[in-house]
Amino acid sequence: MNKLKLVMIGNGMAGVRTLEELLKLDAGLYDITVFGAEPHPNYNRILLSPVLAGEQTFDEIVLNDLSWYQEHRIRLLLNRTVVRIDRVRRRVIADDGTEAEYDRLLIATGSSPFMPALPGNDLRGVIGYRDIADTQAMIATARSHTHAVVIGGGLLGLEAANGLKLRGMQVTVVHIGQWLLERQLDRTSAELLQQALEQRGLRFRLAEQTQALLPSRQEPTRVGAVQFANGEQAPADLVVMAAGIRPNIQLALDCGLPCARGILVSDTLQTFDPRIYAIGECASHRGVAYGLVAPLFEQARVCANHLARLGFARYPGSVTAAKLKVTGIDLFSSGDFLGAPGTHSITLRDPIGGIYKKLVIKDDVLVGACLYGDTRDGAWYRQQISERHNIAAIRDRLMFGATAQDAR
Ligand SMILES: Cc1cc2nc3c(=O)[nH]c(=O)nc-3n(C[C@H](O)[C@H](O)[C@H](O)COP(=O)(O)OP(=O)(O)OC[C@H]3O[C@@H](n4cnc5c(N)ncnc54)[C@H](O)[C@@H]3O)c2cc1C
Repeated sequence: MNKLKLVMIGNGMAGVRTLEELLKLDAGLYDITVFGAEPHPNYNRILLSPVLAGEQTFDEIVLNDLSWYQEHRIRLLLNRTVVRIDRVRRRVIADDGTEAEYDRLLIATGSSPFMPALPGNDLRGVIGYRDIADTQAMIATARSHTHAVVIGGGLLGLEAANGLKLRGMQVTVVHIGQWLLERQLDRTSAELLQQALEQRGLRFRLAEQTQALLPSRQEPTRVGAVQFANGEQAPADLVVMAAGIRPNIQLALDCGLPCARGILVSDTLQTFDPRIYAIGECASHRGVAYGLVAPLFEQARVCANHLARLGFARYPGSVTAAKLKVTGIDLFSSGDFLGAPGTHSITLRDPIGGIYKKLVIKDDVLVGACLYGDTRDGAWYRQQISERHNIAAIRDRLMFGATAQDAR
């Protein structure tokens, strides 16, 4: 009997996780073809930061090596970018002319770094931070050059800055916000973080706007400095743009699938064309395009359930939590950690121990948590937030986390 044909566009973390879940449910249902624009099998993108920092190698972060695809009879087409989806003929077409026919199509194209439209952003040495090629370019530049500027003081920017510093570069982080990680931390915890990173030799320019990237005098095709709105300059042989991501939706737009920030999907991860699913950072579910792995893995389970024709799982959305992967620095936040009107917070500060914890409560429910220095209870707080437990009876010991509850 002929199998159904499943084609996946994008050989990244969310897509391959969906295949793994599908194979567990029904390994024989589909002939599977995967198009991947990168020349590598699926690797753990999260761990690019430890690779940049010299703590892990690329081989160590590969999640599914080539033998995995062979073992599961998956036709893997690497180094091939899909350029068109023909929904009438149910085919996808890649940049080298390869075509593949589908009964079900899974779009898992992820995101691309947002490159601000600054003069000079096409100079050599100006890069985003998304894949192993970017990481290798940064490592190579650190061997031959001295000054790096990272634009963006979010999680990605700080991990890039830390890695480049460990590779021997002098690094300045330029951030438009008043404090670092303003989407993950409140001002107090962000200041503790900044101090810790300054002690490691990183420099920061906060509330600063980059105006232009200037060419190097010695190598005019390469970047040499960053110019700020106030006219000041900072030397820069390398500029890493970490100012946000944009979901890769062009293929979907071109074939008429409705998109907002990402490709619009239902609770079954289906697009407006029921044969076509979208998952991961390229998808927009109930108005949210997630940029972290945990929600994408939850999506993967649901998507696989439907691809396997079981048809009962629903994805309701996720409560996310943030972590910074800089060795020796622990921070965690989840939910409404700033505290909207109608909430109140309990805080603990230990300036000597470098610990700060803030829990935000509304109507006897924990709605947000921000932890710096001691994040052991992060997962437990996240669970309290997502499951909306009533904490009235444990308010007095909520600050002391999961173990304090067990001790009673
Ligand atoms: C340096 C770094 C650190 C991170 N750290 C964390 C972290 O600590 N925690 C966390 O939760 N998340 C982290 N993330 C985010 C996380 O990696 C992403 O959320 C996750 O990888 C998204 O999975 P995805 O499958 O949607 O996209 P991706 O993993 O990006 O996979 C998409 C793939 O599709 C390919 N592709 C795109 N268009 C096409 C096309 N037309 N044809 C063929 N192939 C195509 C891309 O080349 C890519 O390989 C980090 C990201 C980076 C870059």
